[in-house]
Amino acid sequence: VVDYKDGAWQTPEILPYGDMMMSPATSAIHYGQSIFEGMKAYRNPEGEIQLFRPLENFKRLNLSAERMCMPEIPEALFMDGLKELLKLDAAWVPPTEGCALYIRPFMFATDDFIGVRPSDTYRFVIFTCPVGAYYGVPLKVAIEPNYARSVEGGAGFAKAAGNYGSALLPARKMQEKGYHQLIWTDAKEHKYIEESGTMNIMFVIDGKLVTPAVSNTILNGITRASVLQVAKDLGYTVEERKVAVDEIIEASQAGTLQEAFGTGTAATIAQIAIIHYNGTDYTLPAIENREISNKIATALDAIKTGQATDTHNWMVKIEA
Ligand code: PMP
Repeated sequence: VVDYKDGAWQTPEILPYGDMMMSPATSAIHYGQSIFEGMKAYRNPEGEIQLFRPLENFKRLNLSAERMCMPEIPEALFMDGLKELLKLDAAWVPPTEGCALYIRPFMFATDDFIGVRPSDTYRFVIFTCPVGAYYGVPLKVAIEPNYARSVEGGAGFAKAAGNYGSALLPARKMQEKGYHQLIWTDAKEHKYIEESGTMNIMFVIDGKLVTPAVSNTILNGITRASVLQVAKDLGYTVEERKVAVDEIIEASQAGTLQEAFGTGTAATIAQIAIIHYNGTDYTLPAIENREISNKIATALDAIKTGQATDTHNWMVKIEA
């Protein structure tokens, strides 16, 4: 835990997990200056603890901070905080393949002040939580035709708490209809695929890996970038561009939509079995026949758990 006041970050402390005292006027609660990251620590076969691309989370947190008018977090504060915490929490990083220690860095505005203006004081916190192996079922997703998560000029590219709050109602409505997740479309025309609630979305069309280009309305996923890099390493063609809903539906009808999946820190790759759009469920090819995503998932997991050579220097070792 570290506080920002008088224009500077103060001395960080490590505290036992527990309640935080806050004033009812705490600025973040009222006006949403609250941002976060999600990352994971893994154990390699030698028993060493490694973080997956932590500097990417660090950069994205500061991008979110800039958009939300919050102070920049110095790299040393972020990285040293992670390292010190992981040394203490080492016993919680599971040795089992597929399991990991989830890490949640976040920052929020702490001014005890009721007016609408950027806070003068902030708190940056990191806490950890063990997570099990992800045995997610193949997802049934629905394309969202009305609500929007993000607009041009908004804060969709930031990992800001408010983005998630406003997504809850549309997501619950989809869940009530039997779908696990929704896929957001652009706010203007609802014609182009954006992303899902906690994942970026990818398709394999005619043997090519296709995904919406990074924009200022979607979160620039670290798993997304890693999956695209591994796909290129494996020799696949990657297209980052606008992806129209119509293109996906037509490809599904024509049999050229071979795979669809979400990418994110939690699941790495989450297979999509059914896409719902405009009253129809489109069933996608069987998961076991999905060559590209299965190969990428295996290759990426092997890097994260230290079972394959880390050619891109993605893993950062925590010295005990
Ligand atoms: N989009 C959204 C909205 C998310 O919350 C996440 C999870 N951080 C992602 C995409 C995937 O990002 P990452 O691969 O960095 O976890």
